[in-house]
Amino acid sequence: MPWYLSLSSICSAIMFIMAIRGLASPKTARQGNILGIIGMIIAITATIALPQINDRLLPLAIMIIGGITGIKIAAKVQMTSLPQLIAVFNGFGGLSAVLISLAEIISGSDKRIDNSIGIIIGAIAFSGSMIAFGKLQGIITAKSIKFKAQHSLNLILSLLILSMTIIFIHSHSVNLFYWIAAITVILGILLVLPIGGADMPVIISILNSYSGWAAVGIGFSLNNTLLIIVGSIVGASGAILSYIMVKAMNRSLLNVIMGGLNNSDSAQKQSIEQKLAKTGNPQDAAFIMENANKIIIVPGYGMAVAQAQYALKEMADILQNRYHAEVKYAIHPVAGRMPGHMNVLLAEANVPYENVFAMEDINREFATADVAYVIGANDITNPIAKTDSSSPIYGMPVLDVEKAKTVFFVKRSLASGYSGVENPLFFADNTLMLYGDAKQVTEQIISALENS
Ligand code: NDP
Repeated sequence: MPWYLSLSSICSAIMFIMAIRGLASPKTARQGNILGIIGMIIAITATIALPQINDRLLPLAIMIIGGITGIKIAAKVQMTSLPQLIAVFNGFGGLSAVLISLAEIISGSDKRIDNSIGIIIGAIAFSGSMIAFGKLQGIITAKSIKFKAQHSLNLILSLLILSMTIIFIHSHSVNLFYWIAAITVILGILLVLPIGGADMPVIISILNSYSGWAAVGIGFSLNNTLLIIVGSIVGASGAILSYIMVKAMNRSLLNVIMGGLNNSDSAQKQSIEQKLAKTGNPQDAAFIMENANKIIIVPGYGMAVAQAQYALKEMADILQNRYHAEVKYAIHPVAGRMPGHMNVLLAEANVPYENVFAMEDINREFATADVAYVIGANDITNPIAKTDSSSPIYGMPVLDVEKAKTVFFVKRSLASGYSGVENPLFFADNTLMLYGDAKQVTEQIISALENS
């Protein structure tokens, strides 16, 4: 390996590690991103400068086309569609591992174990991510798709892949390698189909981890240290994030991977069907909040859809400055549609970090709050998760908003959220529904507060 490649590998690896560190806090996230970009530029430049690359124009042209396409897609994508975009990118990472492994084997590489690892994990990451994309985009049903003997079929396919891989390692039959790729693609599809509802964020993170480990396999096959380091960073951070998320949802990784959630919510549907929800208006809400000492805001997916974060910050400022209320924000780990979704939006609206609290740090405070202002959130407050073991969200820790004196739900209807489970809190005695778009309702409350 030329000296400059070793040096650039070390520099890039340091940059990537610092980038991940930077991304851990909203304050340093931008800086983290920039370090990641610099690390990637160093890595690409060093790779293109490799002596064995005869034609430097071709990879450059391909990168320019890919880069421009990536920038265009990323600039256009709605914040609420980011998980789908991440799923597609994970899938492309997996696909590239598959293609590189195939190219290596076709060109006679003897690194059969490394290439087998690359192709197996890469193919699962690819096809699994495509199904995850379809589910998140609504192209196929977001619910869990289950059929008889699903686990047995998966086990048979896994054993088949394992035995074919062992035979391939000993025989080096390129045809067998194609078959391994094809069967693993099918396995990836079957593994993600039964996953649905609130488990989707976890599976995206698991697939992200897979795409990292696939890169590690390719790194060994190509003797590329940087690819091994970067793949390990992606693989390990995806695995850690998956662990944090399942812990936050009080689940086990195995349970998620096996498609443990069932999507039947008929049991509690019957019990709440006939009840009536009390409706309030922005003036009522303004009056109650003016007289409140402590208000906890609970943002969810609907706040992101309505882009209500700026109005929310303005409302909080008025309540704090004019009415001397204590205003805090409670963030559930899976609020919205991607990890950190709410934190990003609140940071965008310049909500001070010190007012934003993670679920475990604020949950006890609802009991002492006068108002819980739940804006575009639903599943993350649903107490069914604590009581109904047949519910798809059973076991997910939720924000105890019902303990506040008054709970406002700002949403357009009584419709359920992502998991499809109805929320009995809408019918609670201390709940007032504020129907309408999250931004519009909050703006109406602002004018009522300003005019009182
Ligand atoms: P939910 O999906 O449970 O609820 C969001 C609510 O927002 C809906 O009930 C909807 O009700 C309302 N809403 C939609 N648009 C608007 C609008 N313009 N104005 C006002 N309200 C609106 O979201 P939560 O944040 O409570 O929970 C997140 C869910 O998403 C969890 O189930 C989580 O597991 C899942 N998930 C999370 C991911 C993550 O990484 N964070 C990724 C993928 C899924 P209505 O139609 O009546 O207005």
